[in-house]
Amino acid sequence: MNYVSTRGSAPVVGFEDALLAGLARDGGLYVPESWPTLSREQIAALEGQPYQKVALEVLRPFVGDMDMAALEAMIEKAYSGFGHTAVAPLVQMESGQWLLELFHGPTLAFKDLAMQLIGHLFEHVLDKRDERITIVGATSGDTGSAAIEAFRGRARADVFILYPHGRISEVQRRQMTTPTEANVRAIAVEGDFDDCQALVKAMFNDFEFRDEMRLGAINSINWTRVLAQVVYYATSSLALGGVDRKIDYAVPTGNFGDIFAGYVAKRMGFAIGNLVIATNENDILHRTLETGRYEIEGVSQTITPSMDIQISSNFERLIFDLADREGVAVASMMDDLKTKKSMALSQGQQDKLRDEFASARIPQDETIETIRRVRAEIGMTLDPHSAVGLAAARQTARSDTPMVTLATAHPAKFPDAVRDATGAETPLPERMADLYERDERITVLPNDLAIIEAYIRKERAV
Ligand SMILES: *Cc1c(COP(=O)(O)O)cnc(C)c1O
Repeated sequence: MNYVSTRGSAPVVGFEDALLAGLARDGGLYVPESWPTLSREQIAALEGQPYQKVALEVLRPFVGDMDMAALEAMIEKAYSGFGHTAVAPLVQMESGQWLLELFHGPTLAFKDLAMQLIGHLFEHVLDKRDERITIVGATSGDTGSAAIEAFRGRARADVFILYPHGRISEVQRRQMTTPTEANVRAIAVEGDFDDCQALVKAMFNDFEFRDEMRLGAINSINWTRVLAQVVYYATSSLALGGVDRKIDYAVPTGNFGDIFAGYVAKRMGFAIGNLVIATNENDILHRTLETGRYEIEGVSQTITPSMDIQISSNFERLIFDLADREGVAVASMMDDLKTKKSMALSQGQQDKLRDEFASARIPQDETIETIRRVRAEIGMTLDPHSAVGLAAARQTARSDTPMVTLATAHPAKFPDAVRDATGAETPLPERMADLYERDERITVLPNDLAIIEAYIRKERAV
């Protein structure tokens, strides 16, 4: 499988280069040249198979000439450290409503499902090419901890994660500052998340630094992150509906990576109905579905920080399909977005969007009420992101179609919000119960490109 840029003017690359590159050179995102489909028989054969087996068959058409035995071994290792043997178990909530638990990985958010695999994929490709890279990334919490956990101790990659000093949860911080391996570092920047992102961008634009360090990125626009997430749509749709019966999904959405994976699963032939975009007050996608205009507004801070976004970067991948895969058209729309802070979908594009997706905007008081009520009614504690998903699921459920809400984080990752909603404490799972006692390695640096680049030069494990 080859990969093309959504903006149509970057070279076509193979799977390995799409993995390592992240962003395409024309500023676009890599997407497969066409959507591979599995036959009815191929899909039927996956029913009842373990997560790892389904993962191998879902990934197979996307990975080019990668050695399948090596991929199988990587998948096995990636999910061996999860706290549940099903990897992504389904739990019934009420009649017709299910929860897909994506928080059994080492950092308690769904980012682990892709990142754990990506750690192995990078190592495999870098070993083969005898290369090393330096990964830099900015995080508002969950991506950074998942990346550090996935790359700790790996011989061919250094990882530096920038996070806003004092502005992430204690669990998120400790997950980044307690690993002791020399190749992974978290940097607390004296600034906010946008400052961190701007610094990372500036490092990529500093070509001398970029080439010297061989910078790489694992942020949410990396195609392999989306790809690895397709697997749990496949396993859950097979488990609930089999080959033919369609399942609807409600997905707590920020950068549109997770829900886009559901769209890919649907393109591949899995029985998926509506994909419901669940947003908090930062509702750019919900407004787009309603009005056909994708319009940037300011960001407001909520108790669901992983969904506090101004724009949803992976939405560009969907636009590419809505624009009949015309890169030139996408480039011009993205240009509008940059200069006018908004872009318009044509009537045809808006109709296509609404054929595949639904949406709901959940205000914070409803999120809190959802956490409280679910706990009172069935004794289950939801994290606030998952609660946004469930509230959206209830709003958009169809009587004849099972609905799955993606539970994107474990409640112990956001204990303050849960305590405020219910008064209850949420203990960490047994396997990481000592997180609050481990020693932290905290590095605070000013919001200054030269100082941060100098630190990375010096601290690289090479
Ligand atoms: C990252 C994240 C999201 C948003 O996922 P996207 O792929 O960016 O849409 C939702 N919930 C949690 C807990 C997250 O960490």
